[in-house]
Amino acid sequence: MTSSFFRAALAATALLGVCSCAAPSGSPAAPHPTPHALILGLDGVRPDAFQAAKTPHLDRLIEAGLVTWDAFAGGADAESDPTTQATSSGPGWTSILTGVWHDRHHVADNTFQGADLANNPHLFARIRAVRPTAQLVSIVHWAPINEHLLRPYPSQASLLLEPGSDSAVAAAGAAQIRDADPAVLFLHFDEVDSAGHSFGYGAPIAEYIAAIELVDLHVGVVLDALQERESRTGEEWLVIATTDHGGLGTGHGGQSAEERTIWITAKGPGIQAGVLTHGPGHTIVALTVLDHMGVHVPSSEGFADEVPFGLLTRDSNPLQK
Ligand SMILES: [Zn+2]
Repeated sequence: MTSSFFRAALAATALLGVCSCAAPSGSPAAPHPTPHALILGLDGVRPDAFQAAKTPHLDRLIEAGLVTWDAFAGGADAESDPTTQATSSGPGWTSILTGVWHDRHHVADNTFQGADLANNPHLFARIRAVRPTAQLVSIVHWAPINEHLLRPYPSQASLLLEPGSDSAVAAAGAAQIRDADPAVLFLHFDEVDSAGHSFGYGAPIAEYIAAIELVDLHVGVVLDALQERESRTGEEWLVIATTDHGGLGTGHGGQSAEERTIWITAKGPGIQAGVLTHGPGHTIVALTVLDHMGVHVPSSEGFADEVPFGLLTRDSNPLQK
């Protein structure tokens, strides 16, 4: 809306003798609120099992936001395509956090050998370039995410933690939300993937379902802290959650539908509730967070996605092959 619209609206309000006592959002006089984002990374959570499990806390996000149950990991589903990558944690989390596939980040497996983070940096680096003092925090159960994507570049993150359990990740994340002021907080939970490797991935596997229901409790600790903060401060955070891969049998890495098919959900400013079929690749997480943080990514950067997750049209995605 135009500023003249708001001037007219303010004038009308003054004539009526009514004071809202706050500048309308979008008004040139209103200070820009500092954007905040929470990224929840749940390792190895298949969408079919997620839907079968009892997850009241994650359901809070899904019911208030946009969800897709058929997004994809692994790049293009064609061996000859340079974006194709293993449905493994190294390539997966690298794509989620950089916005590009293997053809650009060159992470092929969990060794991260050959990674080109200099040209395809973690999203924290792109935010840091625009917001030098922003608190950018990454708390991960699977330490290689921090060790390979952030620790070699000390100026990018404000705080890196690698707790030894998912419950400790949740406690540290909730403490950040309650007691500190992170602009972007990334939390990685690993124990569902461990259950998949031990007992098998999929909705019929009781131990796998139980692990999903347990991580939901951990996420609840974080979301409770966020709900309390938002009601205290008036902030409205972007919350976006996804997984790095599915699983088949007791493993993953290949290009089967069970390994490639993933889910993404997000809620926050401007994101309408709904279900998106034919969802995008999980690379869209980086673009979505950067857009929310006001960081523009030129098309020359080669991002896999052009439109943030919350702006994708329901039931159609022009980027889906
Ligand atoms: Zn993984």
